[in-house]
Amino acid sequence: MHPDTAAVHAGEEPALAPSSLVPPIYQTSVFTFSDLYSAADVTGGKAVGYSYTRIGQPNADMFAQAVAALEGAPAACVAASGMGAILAALVAARDGRAVAAADEIYGGSVALLEGFLEPLGVRCLRFDAHDPLSLPQEAGVVLVESASNPLGRLADLRALADTAHKHGQRLVVDNTFATPYLCRPHEHGADLVVHSVTKFLAGHGDVTLGVVTGNEELVGRCQSALTTFGATPDPFACWLALRGLRTFGVRMERAVANAKGVARFLAQQGAVQRVHHPSVPGHPDAELARRFLSGEGPAILAFDLDGEAAAARFIERLRLIRYAPSLGDVSTIVLHPATTSHRQLGPAEKERLGILPGTIRLSLGIERLEDLVAELGHALD
Ligand code: PLP
Repeated sequence: MHPDTAAVHAGEEPALAPSSLVPPIYQTSVFTFSDLYSAADVTGGKAVGYSYTRIGQPNADMFAQAVAALEGAPAACVAASGMGAILAALVAARDGRAVAAADEIYGGSVALLEGFLEPLGVRCLRFDAHDPLSLPQEAGVVLVESASNPLGRLADLRALADTAHKHGQRLVVDNTFATPYLCRPHEHGADLVVHSVTKFLAGHGDVTLGVVTGNEELVGRCQSALTTFGATPDPFACWLALRGLRTFGVRMERAVANAKGVARFLAQQGAVQRVHHPSVPGHPDAELARRFLSGEGPAILAFDLDGEAAAARFIERLRLIRYAPSLGDVSTIVLHPATTSHRQLGPAEKERLGILPGTIRLSLGIERLEDLVAELGHALD
């Protein structure tokens, strides 16, 4: 089944919701039992069923099934947020060893490593995703983003997976930016794939959720980590996310085309110093895009203006495109990474990664390209 079709139908569970076209919301924190033995069987894992919503619930399972189908994974579990999914994946997969993370990752993931895992005694190491040989051997788990936040740099997932597996490590890929529309990291050797569902998978800016996909054994460990941390999701959030996922294929088709069109337009503007999108001629990741993306680049791009004041003036002049610290919504949104998503990094580190005071990130929505171009042209004028 094509992933676009899977997005429309996966997770339809007739046994749970035999007659309604759209699944009901099981908005309950607990499930009842007819007798002590059936309760013991479910809580002891001998029978399939639900007992307590923090441990498992139908809306989470329906959404998990759908994302597993999209990512081509045997299993998935749902977390209260993307950060919950990343925490569960790292803790479940590290096997008591250190955690290694690529240099270019979401600032929240850096905060997790430096602010919480390290103080708990978990060694956290960093490496250059563009150089698989820089992977620290002592790590048990490796975190990389298939397309990095905020500049959308791509990683050689196959080389990273092969190197990690040679060291007996597990590769966790954050696929939030690329999405399974463009990239299915399990096909390239990833052991676990994580998402901030909050973004393109749910797609409407109205839900906070995360997901992990992988094999039954690893996902089972992630699920018990989430259950124990209390980072499992609310049924309504799962229901909204599944509703959003139904239009994933058509939303992504338009958003990805918009990103390519906007990248081409921005590359021709005098005020724009550089456009970060693999579709732009001369981009260093064009070859990786051919190998790992089923399209020329993600529905997100970044570009550099001449300093923070120019970035601020540009953002003030936007009307249709609004400033919001997120991405992956039906509406195009803009962000200044240096002061929001990557504010945790020091000035030297930001400069080294290319996150400059004039860097602006655009997450493309599903509007018509001509309206976006007119808006951007006006703000740059
Ligand atoms: N991963 C990436 C690449 C992100 O951009 C984000 C948030 O922006 C997250 C993970 C965290 O997701 P959430 O905000 O749903 O916890």
